[in-house]
Amino acid sequence: MQKTIALVAHDHKKPELIAWSEQHIAELSKHKLVATGTTGGLLTQALGLDIHRYKSGPLGGDQQIGALIAENKLDCLIFFWDPLNPAPHDPDVKALLRLCSVWNVPVACNTATADMLITSPLFFDGSYQRALPDL
Ligand code: PGA
Repeated sequence: MQKTIALVAHDHKKPELIAWSEQHIAELSKHKLVATGTTGGLLTQALGLDIHRYKSGPLGGDQQIGALIAENKLDCLIFFWDPLNPAPHDPDVKALLRLCSVWNVPVACNTATADMLITSPLFFDGSYQRALPDL
């Protein structure tokens, strides 16, 4: 069952996300992929897959992905944010992570969690229905 997956990485974490995506290209290629601008450009080059690119994160891309979550159009977020360097758009980063919690969207912020998520039959075989909160 095809899911929509968003891929986002801060600058120092981009190599990690590219390596992770190359490792999981077989699974990723089955799904609809979206990304923030720079991350999406690098991933398109590395993977050769069709990835819809939103604006760069600091220019509103994180918020565009947040809007997908609010509209129930996103199934999963892989978000390698940088815990060691300040980001000018830190409020947007926080808002994006907050919306994942509000709407019960699976989110992976490191490779260990992303590995478990992408290999989980629970999530990707179509049998799992994410509960939508009754707000
Ligand atoms: P970028 O944005 O992919 O355009 O670098 C990511 C982010 O900083 O949130």
